[in-house]
Amino acid sequence: EPGLYIVATPIGNLGDLSPRAAAILAGVALIAAEDSRVTAKLLRHIGARVPMQSYHDHSAEGLRPALVARALAEPIALVSDAGTPLISDPGYKLVRDARAAGVNIVTIPGPCAAVAALTLAGLPTDRFLFAGFLPSKQGARATAIAELAPIRATLVLYESGPRLAACLAALYAGLGDRQAAIAREISKRFEETVTGSLSELAARYENAAPRGEIVITIAPPGEPPPADADTLDSALTAALAAAT
Ligand code: SAM
Repeated sequence: EPGLYIVATPIGNLGDLSPRAAAILAGVALIAAEDSRVTAKLLRHIGARVPMQSYHDHSAEGLRPALVARALAEPIALVSDAGTPLISDPGYKLVRDARAAGVNIVTIPGPCAAVAALTLAGLPTDRFLFAGFLPSKQGARATAIAELAPIRATLVLYESGPRLAACLAALYAGLGDRQAAIAREISKRFEETVTGSLSELAARYENAAPRGEIVITIAPPGEPPPADADTLDSALTAALAAAT
C-alpha cells in the first residue's frame, strides 16, 4: 500500500530489528535514509536490495515534495542510522508535509535509546522529559539546564563520551546533587549502566571519557535517594528468611 513508513531500526543489536520492520524495508520502493552506508549494512543483514536516498530535514527544499509525491503513489520508508526516526533524528518535517498532503503514514515502532535507558535507570518513569542533546557551548548549556531545573519529571538526555564529563559537571552545578544513571552502549557488547548522584558521576568520568553512545537520566527534583546498602541488606535478609 502506498504511504510513508517510519521504521525503527536497532540501536546496536541487529536482533532487535522486528520481523515487521524487516518485511516493510524489503518491500518498499524507496528508503529515505540518514546515511545510506549505515542503512546498506542493515539491508545486507536482511538480504534486501532497495533503492535509497539520503534525507535530512535540511535537505534541499525540492527533495521533500518529491518524497511526499512518491509516498502518495507507492510505499516508501524513512529510517535513521539507529533507533526511532524523528527522535533526535531527521523526519519531523517530512511527516508534517506528508500529513498535510494526505499521505498514509504508518509507524513501525521499535528501539529508542531514550526509552531503553529509562527501563535501566531505576528512576521514576511516570513523568519524563526528553531533552535530546544539550547545547555544547557552556553558556547555552547552562541556560538550557536552568530551564530544565524546575521541571518535576525524570530528565532524559543524549550525550557523547568526550563531552560527558563537562555535561555532568554542568548538570551538577545547575540541578544540585540529584540521582542519575549513565546508560552506555545499550544492546551492544560493552553495555553498562552506572548509577550515582550527579557529583559522584561527574567525579567518576572527570578524567575518563567513556567510549560509545550514552543516555543520561536524572531524577526529578526532591526525589529521595535510593535506600543505602545496609537497609537493602536487612530487607533482603528478611525476605529470604520469609521465603524459606
Ligand atoms: N533516533 C535515535 C533513538 O531512537 O534513540 C537517537 C539518535 S541520536 C542522533 C544518537 C544518540 O542516541 C547517541 O548520541 C546516544 O546519546 C543515543 N544512543 C543511540 N544508541 C545508543 C545506545 N546503543 N546506547 C546508548 N545510547 C544510545
